[in-house]
Amino acid sequence: MSEARDAERKSYPLLPLRNVLVFPGITISLEVGRPKSVKAVEIARALGMELVMCAQKSTDITDPLPEHIYAVGTLGIIKEVAKTASGNLRIVVEGIRRIEISSYLALEPAYMVSVEDLHERRPGVEENRILVKSLMEQYEEYVGVTRNVPAETLISITGISEAGRLCDTVANHIPIPIPEKQELLETVSIIERAEMVLDVLSREIELAGLEKRINLRVRRQIERSQKEYWLREQMKAIQRELGDRGDGPSEAEEFRQKIEKAGLPDDAKERALREVARLEKMPQASAEAVVVRTYLEWLVSLPWNVLTEDTIDIEHAKKILDQDHYGLDEPKERILEYLAIRKLVGKPKGPILCFVGPPGVGKTSLGKSIARALGRRFVRISLGGVRDEAEIRGHRRTYIGALPGRIIQGLRNAGSKNPVFLMDEIDKLASDFRGDPAAALLEVLDPEQNHQFSDHYLEVPFDLSKVMFITTANSSHSIPRPLLDRMEVINLPGYTEEEKIEIGSQFLVPKMVKEHGLTPSNLTIRRDALREIVRSYTREAGVRNLERQVATICRKTAKDVVAGNKKRVIVTSRNVNKYLGIPKFRYGQTEKEDQVGVSLALAVTEFGGDIMPCEVSVVKGKGKLTLTGQLGDVMKESAQAAVSYLRSRSADLGLEPDFYETVDIHVHIPEGAIPKDGPSAGITMACAIASALTGKPVKHGLAMTGEITLRGRVLPVGGVKEKVLAAHRAGVSKVILPLDNKKDLEDIPSNVRNELDIELVAHMDQVLTMALAGGGNGELETFACLEGLKQGQDVAVNHVS
Ligand code: ADP
Repeated sequence: MSEARDAERKSYPLLPLRNVLVFPGITISLEVGRPKSVKAVEIARALGMELVMCAQKSTDITDPLPEHIYAVGTLGIIKEVAKTASGNLRIVVEGIRRIEISSYLALEPAYMVSVEDLHERRPGVEENRILVKSLMEQYEEYVGVTRNVPAETLISITGISEAGRLCDTVANHIPIPIPEKQELLETVSIIERAEMVLDVLSREIELAGLEKRINLRVRRQIERSQKEYWLREQMKAIQRELGDRGDGPSEAEEFRQKIEKAGLPDDAKERALREVARLEKMPQASAEAVVVRTYLEWLVSLPWNVLTEDTIDIEHAKKILDQDHYGLDEPKERILEYLAIRKLVGKPKGPILCFVGPPGVGKTSLGKSIARALGRRFVRISLGGVRDEAEIRGHRRTYIGALPGRIIQGLRNAGSKNPVFLMDEIDKLASDFRGDPAAALLEVLDPEQNHQFSDHYLEVPFDLSKVMFITTANSSHSIPRPLLDRMEVINLPGYTEEEKIEIGSQFLVPKMVKEHGLTPSNLTIRRDALREIVRSYTREAGVRNLERQVATICRKTAKDVVAGNKKRVIVTSRNVNKYLGIPKFRYGQTEKEDQVGVSLALAVTEFGGDIMPCEVSVVKGKGKLTLTGQLGDVMKESAQAAVSYLRSRSADLGLEPDFYETVDIHVHIPEGAIPKDGPSAGITMACAIASALTGKPVKHGLAMTGEITLRGRVLPVGGVKEKVLAAHRAGVSKVILPLDNKKDLEDIPSNVRNELDIELVAHMDQVLTMALAGGGNGELETFACLEGLKQGQDVAVNHVS
C-alpha cells in the first residue's frame, strides 16, 4: 500500500501558471518566459518527464512563492517546445490528470514538487448519461446565446461521453475567473462538478441574455439618434435646395416674441404657443405648416390690446360734424344726443346707430365724422350680398384657404380694439342654406354677448365690446327685424335742390378741386352751373352723382391746366355742357299738356323718392285687368281696388254699369327694371284708369300718392318727405297727398313747401275732381272712347302727346 503511495508520490518540476489553468484532457499552448518556469520546462524536457502545472492565486506576482500557488493542479505532458522571437519558449502541453502538491522539494533553479494524484469520484452509468445530456443541452443553449463559441469547440465537445471530461472541457471554454476554474479543478466528485458547471452555465446564459438585451437597446438608441441626425441633415439640404430659410433666427422664436408683444389674453396666448410648438415640429414647406403660420400671423396681428383714447366733448363733436356736413340738422342733433348719453352712462352699451337713407346722402361720411370727433379709428365693411354666415364669422381652419370673417378682418385693418365700425347695407343681407348671417350679426351687435365674440377661424374669443358699431341701410323695412330692434334708426331722406347746391359749392367743389391737385384760382363752378348739373345731369336723392360730375369737370380742367391751354376755368350754366356733354335728364319731366290715361305717382325706391308715370290703356275685351312693369302683389291688389271703386262710381262717371265686362284694362308703370310694390300708387292708378275710361285728360304738372280703399277713402302713406322732394326735383307744380299725412308736412323744407301747391284729400272723389280736366264726379260724361268701344272699335287712349 505504502509502495503504491510512493509510486504515486513522485517529484516533478513545477510550472506556475498566470491567468490560465490547464484541465486534464486539454491540450494547450503556453508561452513561458519567467526564468524559473523556463528552467522547469528544460528540466522536464531533459529528464523526459511530465511537469506539474498549478495556477497562481494572484496574477500580479512575477516571482511567486509556494504560498502564492494553488496546491491542486494538473500533471501535463510537453508535446512541443519552440523558441519565440522574443527569446521565450512556446510549449504545447496536454493535461493528463489532477494532482495535489504535497511538498516543495527544491526551490532553485526551478521549483521541484512531490505530488499526489487526486482520484475522481465517478457517477454510475445512468447518472453519467443524465449528466452528459443535461450538460450538453445547457452548453448548446449557452453557445446559442453567446454566439462567440467556435464551431470546432462545439464539435469537440459533442463527442465526449464521460461527464467528468465533459465538465473539464466545458470549464476550459467558458470565460470564468481563475478562482472559479480552480474550484472546478479541485472538485473530485463528478456529480458535484457537473452541478457546478451547470450552475455556471445557467448564470452565463442569463448574463449573456441580459447583455444581449442591453446591447440591443444601446444599438437601437444609437440607430435612432443616427437616423434622426441623418434625416435632419437631409431636410436641411432639401430646404436649402428649395430656397427656404437657413440657420437664421428660428421662425418659432420670432413668433414667440411677437406673441409676447401682441398682448394676447391668457387663453389665446396659450393657444398660440401651442401652435408654435406644433409648427416647430413640422417640415417648413409642408402644407400644414403654411396653415399654422397663417393662423399665427392672424393671431399676432390683431389689436388685442390696442385702445385709442376717447375724447367725448360734445362741443368739439358738433364742430366736426358741422365742418364735414352741410345741413342734416336733425341727424346731427340725434348723433350728439347719442354721444352725450354714452358719455353720461360711461358704458359703450346701448342701441346701435343705424343711418337709413338713399345712396349719397352722407351716411358713410357721418360715420367717419363720428370717428374723427371721438378720436377713434374708422373701418367700414359692406354687408351687401352677404349670404353666408362664414363671411361674418369666418371659416373653420379645416377649410382650404380659410380666413377670419369680415368683423375680425375689419378690426385688423383698424389696428385698434375700439374703432368706429361702419357696416354698410345691413338691409342687403341675404340668408340661405349656408346659415343666417343676420343671426351672426346679432351676436356681434349685442353688447351682452360681444365681449366673447368667437370667430370660427380664430377659435379664441375676441372682445368686441369696445367697438362702436354703426350700420347703414337704404330702407329700414328690409332690415331683419331682430337687428332693427337693437338699432336706433336715424333717417336721412335726401336733399332739396337748394341743399344740393349748397353742399356742392361749400363741400364737394372745394374737396374735388383739392383732390385733383387744382387750386380755387384754377376752377370756379358757379351756382347756376351747379343748379344745372343737379337738374339736368343727375336725378338722385343724395349727392353722389353730383360729386361725380364735379369730379369730371375737375379732371377736364386739370388736363387743360397741365397742357397749358388754360389757367383758369369758370363753369356756368351755359358752358357746363362743354364739360359734361348733353344733359342726361329733362328737367320738369311732367308733360306740358294734359294727357288721357296717364297720371304721375310718387314713390320711394332705394334710390330715394321718385316720380313714376302710370299709364293705362283700355281696349275692347272681356273685363281683363293686366298689370305690367314688375309690380308687386300689394300693388296689383291696389289696382283691383281702384277698378272696384270705379265700378261703384260708374254712374257718376258716366260709364255704363257693365263697362268692365266689355273692356280689358292694361295698367303699366314704366322703368320696368325697378321692382315696385306698396299700396301708395292706389289713387294714381284709379285716376289714370278713370281718365282712360272716360277719356278725360289728367291735368299736367300734377303728381299724387295715397292708398285707396274699395269705397274710395284715401289712406295715409309713408315717405312723404322723400316723395315731395322728388316731385319738387322733377318740376311738378301740384301734389295731392292723403289728409292723414298732414303731420308729415312739417318735415318738408319751407322753400319746397312754398314752391309747391300741396292738396290734402280724404276721398278719391276729391282726387278726380282735382285731377281730371273738365271736372269730377257727377259731372262726367260718357266720352268718345267709350262711344268708340261701344261701336266695336279698339281705342288706345294713353298716348296723346
Ligand atoms: P352714403 O354713405 O349715404 O351712400 P356718402 O357718405 O358716401 O353717402 O356720401 C357721398 C358723398 O357726398 C361724400 O363725399 C360726402 O362727403 C358727400 N356728402 C353727402 N352729404 C353731405 C353733406 N350734408 N355735406 C357735405 N357733404 C356731403
